[in-house]
Amino acid sequence: MLLEEPIKEAKTVRNYIGGEWVEPRGKPVDVVNPATGRTIATVGNSTREDLDDAVKAARAAFPEWRRTTAMARSRILFRFKELLEQNFEELSRIQTMEHGKCIDESRGETRRGIENVEVACGTPMLMQGYHSQDIASGIDEWVIPSPLGVFGIIGPFNFPFMIPLWSAPYAVATGNCVVIKPSSEVPLSQMRLAELAEEAGFPPGVWNTVNGGRLVVDGMLDHRDISGITFVGSTPVGRDVIYKRCGETGKRVIAQCGAKNCLVVMPDANVGATIQACQTSFFGNTGQRCLAAANLIVVGEDGFYKNFMATMIERVRQMKVGYGLDESIQMGPLRDRAKKERVSGYIDVGVKEGARLSLDGRLVKIIGAYPETAFLGPTIFEDVEPSMTIAQEEIFGPVMSVLRAGTLDEAIEICNSSPYGNGHSIFTSSGPYARHFQNNVDSGNVGVNIGIVAPMALFPFGGMKDSFFGVLHTQGREALRFFTESKVAIQRWF
Ligand code: NAD
Repeated sequence: MLLEEPIKEAKTVRNYIGGEWVEPRGKPVDVVNPATGRTIATVGNSTREDLDDAVKAARAAFPEWRRTTAMARSRILFRFKELLEQNFEELSRIQTMEHGKCIDESRGETRRGIENVEVACGTPMLMQGYHSQDIASGIDEWVIPSPLGVFGIIGPFNFPFMIPLWSAPYAVATGNCVVIKPSSEVPLSQMRLAELAEEAGFPPGVWNTVNGGRLVVDGMLDHRDISGITFVGSTPVGRDVIYKRCGETGKRVIAQCGAKNCLVVMPDANVGATIQACQTSFFGNTGQRCLAAANLIVVGEDGFYKNFMATMIERVRQMKVGYGLDESIQMGPLRDRAKKERVSGYIDVGVKEGARLSLDGRLVKIIGAYPETAFLGPTIFEDVEPSMTIAQEEIFGPVMSVLRAGTLDEAIEICNSSPYGNGHSIFTSSGPYARHFQNNVDSGNVGVNIGIVAPMALFPFGGMKDSFFGVLHTQGREALRFFTESKVAIQRWF
């Protein structure tokens, strides 16, 4: 049964600047529900002037906001969290409509986003500095974590609601103001989030949302009044545009980027639980997760491999693909036609390079009467070699590439040959295997019997090699460090 859609008529997405709702100056584009093909909104492409207005408003709000006590700031966050809970289901359904993911995946995203607000509510205690009395004779010294001003927060399309919340709650809780630029492909849940931020009572200018694309990002990178940027998106943009330009303009930066995650299966793994975890990891969110598994590396003899893969293919073949507002659906469409074509292109490449196509997602049967524009079923390639394109490049879609390794060390070597290092995982019932893997794999997040190694809000969201550029991370304590300068006060009284 289809759940009720919260968006009945196409909306006009506005910017939220200095406590006002304003139309972006640039030309609007349509936001299309990838499952139904229906236009659900139009969103303007903001100009540098729009961004300037937002930064001015944020800059103007900063002196008063930083002087507001941490407890008073936190009280607004508590109200915000309450409003997010009250609107939990609506927020989740909006994500399904703008992105295509299944409703349960959207609910998971909403929950993970709210958890960051909850952790940020503890900022009054978490941001306390430290102190030494008589560090030298008659001299006391202490650290005062101090907000820096205005931060730009740039989001990707794949987690429209949650990802800005890896940063924004911590930024405002520590006394900064934010300008959020959602992905222009999925601006609706961020518009709803800004409405709830307004209702929670953030003073005008503390929380701003500016919609658009590259113009806004370039404007942020050049802006003298932006102290730092958090970016989540692809490696070419994160590394070559964001990280580089922040270095040139002296801004602090967190750039969380692309991935190609490996899931290693040892012959002593719990087969049932491993297959279930693989299904969610490879095909959840239609493979559009930075922590989605992309390469499955099976270690062991032919007998184990054949049984394991036969069960896997059968289970995956039965996955129900359709509109995510139908609760029985297990996989939604890709975000749009261009993404489907891109992923289909990789399937062609895999076939050309000689991998065996054991399950072809292009032949999938969709549940319900929807246009086929963005739907692509789960796809499995076997006999994949580490050097093949489908084993190396980020496909960002529901494609499993299966490789084989003779030993755990060989499997680790395959993992570490990737330029990325975001979320590799091992499935085993052996402590020594798990420990060896954990200690030797180059990955910012490492899993043992975990399919999607997403750190909870209390922990930093890691990443290594081409998956991350920066030092501190989003979420938890590290986010608090990122959004504050450790001002050191040294005092002597004569
Ligand atoms: P993207 O890099 O295309 O876009 C990210 C943001 O940058 C968007 O807001 C977009 O408007 C902007 N942008 C795009 N091109 C730009 C340019 N040339 N100059 C300036 N700004 C530009 O990424 P996407 O397709 O939205 O997201 C998917 C990517 O994000 C994948 O590579 C995925 O692995 C990655 N991702 C990483 C993490 C992580 O934590 N490491 C989490 C989620 C997604």
